[in-house]
Amino acid sequence: MLNIDTNTLLNAIPRPRLKLTSFLSVFLAASMSLPLMADEEVNVYSARKEALIKPMLDRFEEETGVTVNLITGSADALLRRLQVEGEYSPADIFITVDAGRLHRAKQANVLQPFQSANIDALVPEHLRDADDYWYSLSQRSRTIFYAKDRVKPSELSSYEALADSQWKGRICVRSSGNIYNQSLVASMIEADGEEATSNWVKGLMSNLARPPFGGDTDLLKAVATGVCDVTIANTYYFGRMMRSDNAMDQLVAEKVGVFWANQGADDRGVHMNVSGAGITAASVNKASAIKLIEFLLSDEAQTWYADVNNEYPVVQGIAPPVNLATFGAFKTDKISLTKLGDNNLKAVKIMDAAGWK
Ligand code: FE
Repeated sequence: MLNIDTNTLLNAIPRPRLKLTSFLSVFLAASMSLPLMADEEVNVYSARKEALIKPMLDRFEEETGVTVNLITGSADALLRRLQVEGEYSPADIFITVDAGRLHRAKQANVLQPFQSANIDALVPEHLRDADDYWYSLSQRSRTIFYAKDRVKPSELSSYEALADSQWKGRICVRSSGNIYNQSLVASMIEADGEEATSNWVKGLMSNLARPPFGGDTDLLKAVATGVCDVTIANTYYFGRMMRSDNAMDQLVAEKVGVFWANQGADDRGVHMNVSGAGITAASVNKASAIKLIEFLLSDEAQTWYADVNNEYPVVQGIAPPVNLATFGAFKTDKISLTKLGDNNLKAVKIMDAAGWK
């Protein structure tokens, strides 16, 4: 397998593709049956780090004989790259995290819709694009985390309730520039409406222990060390820290509890987001690309991929990683993830207006 880092490739010259004129295509199709042109291959642009995807691509190569070329980089850099390369992009598949980012790729016209009966059967409807531009590969929850020695789980209930005055000066959040919080707010717009969500953001801002800061890992550490009592973070960060030997990570694992938000009988369930994959608009290896995405939804790949990423599988009936299993069962919000992209701009405006830095 070929693996090149993004920086090298940013300087690479796009590979032009030979195009047959329509006349020639018709002539060829009518006059002869072509042998397979070349060995099959599929080119993947992945915002997931190499170690979190490559072993499964290797397994796919072994099983199918299809060569997989992997390019990894940051989600935003890879999306820009796909846009710059346009129809000359060598990429067939784009893998990234957060439905909001997958939506941006769709909006940027770098993906094409595709269908597969196998994929339709495996990926629940709310975990795929409404127009078939992308499909989820794994799920993560963005839920509430609390200091076990200062907060009783019975004091917690929903995201909405974090705006109550009992939490004044006790909450930490990361900045609104991050897509994770944008997607959470987008889901609340869908559930509660714009006005209620705007009021909620204002209430949440008035309860902060300090201005928005850091990433999810920093927030979990802040809860463990007494900077604040409650935060909102993605489950895989906590799952990763549970498995780490680092002393601070161990402190977090010991001091911080996971609380599943919005589990009431009539409530919608906890906010979920995903990693996912789409086929690029420029793909010339579409059949192999579909085959690879189907493989990533196989029992073997789902189990492995969820485990190394500390995430939940998207395919029903596949057990979560053992560390995540200790968080127990929970109800998930079944909002179509397409809505997270649709409501993104509204979410950003509401957060800006409420002073969520
Ligand atoms: Fe993350």
